[in-house]
Amino acid sequence: MSLLGAHISVSGGLHRAIERACALGCEAMQIFTRNPLQWQGKGLSEGETGAFRRALLSSGLKSVVSHASYLINLAGDSHVRRKSIDALKAEIGRCYQLGVDAVVLHPGSSRDAPPDAAREALAASLKEILDGTDETGVPVLLETMAGQGGVLGSTIEELAWLMEALDWDKRLGVCADLCHLFGAGVDVGTEGGYERLVSSLSRHVGLDRVMCWHISDNKGERGDRVDRHTHLGSGGIGIVPFGMLVADPRFQDTPVILETPKDGPGDAGNLALLRKLRGSW
Ligand SMILES: [Zn+2]
Ligand SMILES: [Zn+2]
Repeated sequence: MSLLGAHISVSGGLHRAIERACALGCEAMQIFTRNPLQWQGKGLSEGETGAFRRALLSSGLKSVVSHASYLINLAGDSHVRRKSIDALKAEIGRCYQLGVDAVVLHPGSSRDAPPDAAREALAASLKEILDGTDETGVPVLLETMAGQGGVLGSTIEELAWLMEALDWDKRLGVCADLCHLFGAGVDVGTEGGYERLVSSLSRHVGLDRVMCWHISDNKGERGDRVDRHTHLGSGGIGIVPFGMLVADPRFQDTPVILETPKDGPGDAGNLALLRKLRGSW
């Protein structure tokens, strides 16, 4: 069975996220290890790291992933690229200290640059980061994006191209975001569409590289390149792929992370729906 979880707030201290996740009955969780909207982050104190590791050990959580800062753009201009490389290296270092299993990354944006040059820059940035953090062993999961405004990573083929450019480094993986895939035009709302998506992932990157899923419904239209997250079953996707995913033996022990809004049914309501789907699909 997949590991059900949600993106959890670290308000009040990183270890508080573990308490919140456990109260919700999560099997996995995603956190920000620092403010995702700021470049500067303070280092972790021994007290923080110790409290997190102790809480994690005594919890029932089987997997924790971190989501990298939204400011990072490894395909940006040289100034942004340099800051982004340093920021992702620091993020990987924090994950290693905390015992976090992997970091999820938005691959980057070409902005005004030609996409080919941006992809090459992205590959070079990732190479430098992977080489510079080899001893940590922390995987970097490239998230599938909706593709608005020059954002890279909106097709599985493009993620496969990147992995190929990096000689299929064993630390590279994929975080498949169903809301973003729908925004990028993939038919994920039907049984056939879900199966075609899984076949495509299998063919292009291999299912063992799909190390995390993000789930939420999408308020927009399929292919409109926008990712407007909403509660499961209240957008254009419906509940079919969510039910299929959480019951899919091919994703046994893979974290499936809710990125739904915190209002209305909230994480508790969406998790309850997932548990019901997992039992009945
Ligand atoms: Zn993301
Ligand atoms: Zn996501």
